[in-house]
Amino acid sequence: MDRPAIIRKTEQDLRVAPHLADYEGVRRGYSWAGAGQALAGLPGGALNIAHEAVDRHALGPLRDRVALRFVANEAPAIEISFAELARLTSRFANVLRQLGVQKGERLFVLAGRIPELYVAVLGSLKCGVVVTPLFSAFGPEPIATRINLGEASVLVTTDTLYRRKVKAWRERMPSLRHVLLVSDDGTPTREPDTVDLAGLMASASDDFATTPTSPDDVSLLHFTSGTTGTPKGAIHVHGAVITHHATGRFALDLHEDDRYWCTADPGWVTGTSYGIIAPLLHGVTSLVDREEFDAQRWYTLLEQERISVWYTAPTAIRMLMKAGAELARGHTYPALRFIASVGEPLNPEAVWWGKDVLGLPIHDNWWQTETGGIMIANTPAFDIKPGSMGRPLPGIDAAIVEHLEAEGEAPRVREIAAPGVDGELALRAGWPSMFRGYLNNEARYRKCFAGEWYLTGDLARRDEDGYYWFVGRADDVIKSAGHLIGPFEVESVLMEHPAVAEAGVIGKPDPIVGEVVKAFVSLKGGHAADEALRLDIMAHARKRLGAAVAPKEIAFLPMLPRTRSGKIMRRLLKARELGLPEGDTSTMEGGA
Ligand code: AMP
Repeated sequence: MDRPAIIRKTEQDLRVAPHLADYEGVRRGYSWAGAGQALAGLPGGALNIAHEAVDRHALGPLRDRVALRFVANEAPAIEISFAELARLTSRFANVLRQLGVQKGERLFVLAGRIPELYVAVLGSLKCGVVVTPLFSAFGPEPIATRINLGEASVLVTTDTLYRRKVKAWRERMPSLRHVLLVSDDGTPTREPDTVDLAGLMASASDDFATTPTSPDDVSLLHFTSGTTGTPKGAIHVHGAVITHHATGRFALDLHEDDRYWCTADPGWVTGTSYGIIAPLLHGVTSLVDREEFDAQRWYTLLEQERISVWYTAPTAIRMLMKAGAELARGHTYPALRFIASVGEPLNPEAVWWGKDVLGLPIHDNWWQTETGGIMIANTPAFDIKPGSMGRPLPGIDAAIVEHLEAEGEAPRVREIAAPGVDGELALRAGWPSMFRGYLNNEARYRKCFAGEWYLTGDLARRDEDGYYWFVGRADDVIKSAGHLIGPFEVESVLMEHPAVAEAGVIGKPDPIVGEVVKAFVSLKGGHAADEALRLDIMAHARKRLGAAVAPKEIAFLPMLPRTRSGKIMRRLLKARELGLPEGDTSTMEGGA
């Protein structure tokens, strides 16, 4: 069906007055210093995310409002008010104090979407402890790698996850001083060298004076994957809360009476910035679904939980589309007024599907771990151009740039002023939630900047109306079901299999999850490339990496294409897989 290129918004499309009705006007007069005034702050210029998200409301008229509502299939819903969240996070902060954990030390959380995860994250922030939520579907290898890179002192996890993913690797994580376990069945844990969190919480005090962190004090460490080397720990600061507040307002259009659902897991940056922090900042009730994706369940939740603002991801939307429009039409969504999506390109059909089936178009927005918050968005008041990520939010200057440096030199770029030209998406450095470094990797951090521009690693183009369109990644990282996966991390684990000589990993386009991880391996002498070995390598990868990261497909090749300097040419593997032109192979070993 032919669709118009623009979805025009009318007054009737807007159930409440949008925060960003006057895009140009707000942008012109915008300053981040001014935006900071919307927050309470602490004496002496201190700023603490947990104070802004929790205690500020617990001390005011919203104290009894439900902050977090947890739902699950087999268990009754759990509701935590702002006042209760303030009390629990104070207790958690006191637990850390009693254990001698100091401001600036690092705490990791490995758990499903359970209340304790939210309490641990916010309680750590409250006492200035730097926190990293880990994706609970990671296998032991990615978990241990991140804990070691982050030199974590404390791990909060559950009995089951500890036994399955951490225990056997504990000796390989020498920095871990304390492992605090959440019991899965209510009985105190008996694992040696661990402590039962519930027991500590029960005897901790409700009173805790929030640590007066400065806006530049480190708050969160989010790991993200690059093309080469180990994952990068992106360092974020408490001052990021200004961006979380502003973007919760402009991009998600949160109003105090909203019932909000962010479907991202807190193990990924969206699930932290917009699944925990931003809605709380706005005093909004958030739904947390503890279950995995299920189309019928999701429609029921949207309806019965009376969700008004929904933030989800393209893979989920495509899975809903696959489940069929009938299922969606079996429900009504009278409360729903705004749907946003992030993490991967959102196909125009998905935008239209929202309008046809749920009654609302889907609003794509763009950001990444390093930016800490939403940078480019379609907001409720914007006309939507399906396929476009939208326009830069107030306080954000975006540009398309071309590189001028020679191979091996520091980045030097020039802005491409003309619309319609592909180049790298760059942002003028200086917004509050910008990452402040990659842990122990200053050189890599510096390579992200050229003068005043932060270089995103994404290719994009801007049209004549200032809308940005995603073109692709400038590097080889893989986006599968919205999760960034570093090929190197996967290749390293494959290489540990005794039969594997070399491994190259690519993202293979997939209609539902965007890309699936596909591995090419060559074998050491004496091993037959048969089905049994393929399954064995697959099982090894799943056990070590977890199902979310392990390859879905493995193919054998006699040898992998390499550059003369010895790097596996993933681009060539991908071009061959897709039957595309092989491009410049002059740097290939034995190449032209
Ligand atoms: P992460 O750091 O894991 O959040 O991944 C960030 C990357 O996801 C970006 O650099 C993009 O490559 C991709 N991404 C995020 N949002 C979008 C979007 N709306 N459209 C296309 N790609 C996106």
